Amino acid sequence: MTADPVFPGESVDRYDIRSRLDTDYYAVFADIPDADRAVWERAREYVDEVAPMMTAAWDRAEYPLQAARRLGEYDLIVDGIEHPALTRMSPLAAGLVNMEISRGDGSLGTIVAVQGGLALRTLALFGSAQQQERWLKPVADASVLAAFALTEPDHGSDSVSLETTARRVRTDGSDAFEWVIRGSKKWIGNGASGGITLVWARIDDEGADDHDGVRCFIVPQDSPGYQGTVIEGKASLRGIHQAHIRLDDVRLPADAVLPGTRTFKDASTVLYATRSGVAWSALGHATACYEAALSYAMQRMQFGRPLAKFQMVQERLTHMLEDLTAMQLYCRRLADLELAGALRPTQASLAKFHNTRAARRIAATARDLLGGNGILLEYGVIQHMADIEAIHTYEGTESVQALLLGRDITGMSAFV
Ligand SMILES: Cc1cc2nc3c(=O)[nH]c(=O)nc-3n(C[C@H](O)[C@H](O)[C@H](O)COP(=O)(O)OP(=O)(O)OC[C@H]3O[C@@H](n4cnc5c(N)ncnc54)[C@H](O)[C@@H]3O)c2cc1C
Repeated sequence: MTADPVFPGESVDRYDIRSRLDTDYYAVFADIPDADRAVWERAREYVDEVAPMMTAAWDRAEYPLQAARRLGEYDLIVDGIEHPALTRMSPLAAGLVNMEISRGDGSLGTIVAVQGGLALRTLALFGSAQQQERWLKPVADASVLAAFALTEPDHGSDSVSLETTARRVRTDGSDAFEWVIRGSKKWIGNGASGGITLVWARIDDEGADDHDGVRCFIVPQDSPGYQGTVIEGKASLRGIHQAHIRLDDVRLPADAVLPGTRTFKDASTVLYATRSGVAWSALGHATACYEAALSYAMQRMQFGRPLAKFQMVQERLTHMLEDLTAMQLYCRRLADLELAGALRPTQASLAKFHNTRAARRIAATARDLLGGNGILLEYGVIQHMADIEAIHTYEGTESVQALLLGRDITGMSAFV
């Protein structure tokens, strides 16, 4: 009989690097209202329940729809959207939800951003009373999964030039008409999940007062002519699916248009509002990476002592804390400004610009501090590092935020 081979060091317990630590060095969140803390606690409970299954989902590139539905059951999708039919959530609580969920798993964080930040917000801002009556609750509780389709294969940063069209087609000579939607969309979260897609399209109706305007339409994903294909080979946010969508003369009733939408500025209004959420998500990712690096450095022995005892390691941890604290301060101030109704879109841009860049730095340092284990999925850091790449790009890339800020501080547009 031969014993199972045991390699030196194999008997050592796995490093505990997933525990939450006290990372609030400046007591940025020490004085928050009880109601906001309760929402934060709820987000933690959700993460503790659902996040463990997401590592396997990420590895297999599967989107567990029950994770999205549980998010609705925990009432964590409302993203601070103000509407009498929705649970009230302060901007601070909404930010903490984005942070905590991304700290657990980036794909889950993106579900909040898509289902709540983009789709629910669009319905709440621009839908008719009937549309809101029909869709707000099911989207808020995630019994219907919802997508927001603005980006096209040929139009990302310049989505203002979108080419998808919506034509009115009158059939019997009366004023009655149907809409016919034609075009394609790319990168659409929840775009192939069986629910509804809010499609932004350009009106093609010479003579109509909304001709050439950009409006938004509610498109059930089982509509004939709607084809959502999951984008494969994605190395970031692998636990949620984004779709490439073809709209091949999709016919919709006249009341499918959201009456509050008239121009591209309406789409921008939604994007500005969700930009703060991305800054908070970046903080969540960075917090998880910092916690992992600090815990690992305390436990991992090299040269007969913990990594944390080496001067260079301490300096790197300090740089991480420096970035993390700045991110927290940005986020807290964003929430205060928003609560006071004083948040300017470019202030949200600056927070997104700073925080996704800082999160990238923190993730890269954490990855390195974990040595070879840093590239193993089971240690979590490499997954956060990959997921940060997506949030660095969506809701406006780093360069687009810089252009928005540059225009604000100089008064000169450098977009083209
Ligand atoms: C994971 C993921 C999820 C997404 N989810 C959604 C969704 O649910 N709904 C949706 O509508 N969209 C979604 N998007 C799309 C996202 O908003 C776009 O990817 C983003 O706006 C950038 O567009 P692009 O990828 O076409 O890059 P491009 O616009 O082609 O940009 C490529 C590079 O060029 C730079 N660049 C572009 N213009 C300029 C300029 N004028 N000056 C200097 N540099 C410039 C950019 O900063 C970038 O570095 C998602 C994207 C990703 C990756």
